[in-house]
Amino acid sequence: MFLDLIYPPVCGICGKINKKSLCKKCEIQLKPYEMNSICKPKNKYFDYQIKILKYKGIVRERIIDFKFNEKSYLYKTFAKIILNDKKVYGFLKKYDIIIYVPMYIKKKMLRGYNQCELIAKELASKLQIEKQFNNLKKIKDTKKQSSLIKEERKANIKDAFKINNSTSIINKKIILFDDIYTTGSTVNECSRILKEAGAREVLVLTLAID
Ligand SMILES: [Zn+2]
Repeated sequence: MFLDLIYPPVCGICGKINKKSLCKKCEIQLKPYEMNSICKPKNKYFDYQIKILKYKGIVRERIIDFKFNEKSYLYKTFAKIILNDKKVYGFLKKYDIIIYVPMYIKKKMLRGYNQCELIAKELASKLQIEKQFNNLKKIKDTKKQSSLIKEERKANIKDAFKINNSTSIINKKIILFDDIYTTGSTVNECSRILKEAGAREVLVLTLAID
């Protein structure tokens, strides 16, 4: 992949050369932030949720680097952290398709890359499951969810997404990936649309929980 040519293999957490993208020392350092929980949420459109890390300390710092400080190579480290847990790996392996929560086109153009796409692509390749990255589209430029109160959030996100091709998701088990989970209204709205289009099951996988 072209990114490997630009970036040397480093541990994304400490920055030292490491072929596996995560060194043993940092793996231990991340232990207090690990959740690796699989749960069945109530009153949501999605069927399962997997939470990997707490959005705190070093985890928060590295995610900010990844999203805003051009450290796109961190996708490898994050994908490795997600798949490191055997229980999580086994659960994800049972799914048919992976997609991610898309950005509005203008925002993607500003940043140059979509951090969720990079992680989801790596997960698809490691898990050997199909990716459908152009199927779910964001068609409305919404306000930042965290800037709104609960009632406004639902209205803000309503009808912000659409599915291009529902035939390819009918009766499929889908992993919906997002980087940070705050209120969950965005992933819930995406799940609603996926379910309406015929998806059998939706699992929300989030890297970090705020
Ligand atoms: Zn390290």
